[in-house]
Amino acid sequence: MPIDATQPYDPNNIFAKILRGEIPSKRVYEDEHALAFHDINPQAPHHILVIPKGPYVSWDDFSAKGSDAEIAGFVRAVGVIAREAGMVEPGYRLLANIGADGGQEVPHLHVHLFAGKRLGPMLMR
Ligand code: 5GP
Repeated sequence: MPIDATQPYDPNNIFAKILRGEIPSKRVYEDEHALAFHDINPQAPHHILVIPKGPYVSWDDFSAKGSDAEIAGFVRAVGVIAREAGMVEPGYRLLANIGADGGQEVPHLHVHLFAGKRLGPMLMR
């Protein structure tokens, strides 16, 4: 079920549990500001999720309330993860769903990295 992006942060959401190590995940990267792991239900040959370590519901929440250090750290981490995964050439797609119309299901900000094939049109028609 898509979420309401303006809801308060739920510390028991699935990605908060992954961050705390209470639920297993296939981690590919971690630093002070970000954690990256493989999506459990990949939509492309390579599908990585990157999440900030702070309690932010969505991109909207993060961009409004995240500190400059958190935002810079997270954005730089996304770039490092894509480069380290070899996605830059031949290319990849970066996507964040926000709220109900965006189709966001997990109420902790996450950026999807898709790669490994021609990804086709940007949106379903
Ligand atoms: P959203 O629709 O919120 O942008 O994307 C949520 C993503 O989280 C989906 O692609 C879904 O497959 C992934 N996901 C949901 N639960 C888990 C989980 O427990 N572990 C991992 N690794 N991915 C999950």
